[in-house]
Amino acid sequence: MVSSSGQSSSSNNYDLSFKILLIGDSGVGKSSLLVSFISNSLEDLAPTIGVDFKIKLLAVGGKRLKLTIWDTAGQEKFRTLTSSYYRGAQGIILVYDVMRRETFTNLSDVWAKELDLHSTNQDCVKMLVGNKVDLESERVVSREEGIELAKEHGCLFLECSAKTRENVGQCFEELALKSQVSKKQKAM
Ligand code: GDP
Ligand code: MG
Repeated sequence: MVSSSGQSSSSNNYDLSFKILLIGDSGVGKSSLLVSFISNSLEDLAPTIGVDFKIKLLAVGGKRLKLTIWDTAGQEKFRTLTSSYYRGAQGIILVYDVMRRETFTNLSDVWAKELDLHSTNQDCVKMLVGNKVDLESERVVSREEGIELAKEHGCLFLECSAKTRENVGQCFEELALKSQVSKKQKAM
């Protein structure tokens, strides 16, 4: 069972802490996904300039998890981010826009190489996310293609909409759950 306990940026009341990154081309909806997950309102889906990070506490499998979710502040336009962004990440959400094929192909062509370059932790759990499924009639990347790419890169996979909030909580919660399992296995 997974349940959200609301936003808290000051609480130190948790059992495990995870750094999670949002990666992907400009405009795919990274900041919107974060806003949609953190806040309980749907307002404010205008283009965002991004923040450094936001914190959310979750209860997963009887443990209190602190997620520190890092968002880009527009640097991804240059397809490169600083190494401090990647350092210590335990979960990475790779986002594409189901209406823009280049944002999908760039995950293999550009972003996977970025991750290699910064040699992110091999135990880092990755999740591929196809965003904007509320615009189904304009979709150009099929669900099957998403599943295939996720398999190729050893990622979890979900499609979601930051706008309607479909599957948004699941993206972060499934990643946290998987990271928790991987952390436990490492400790054994
Ligand atoms: P970022 O550059 O990846 O952080 O993308 P943003 O979060 O700034 O979003 C880019 C644009 O896409 C904004 O105009 C958002 O309102 C829009 N957007 C983001 N997510 C969705 C979604 O799920 N559905 C729709 N229809 N629009 C979205
Ligand atoms: Mg942004």
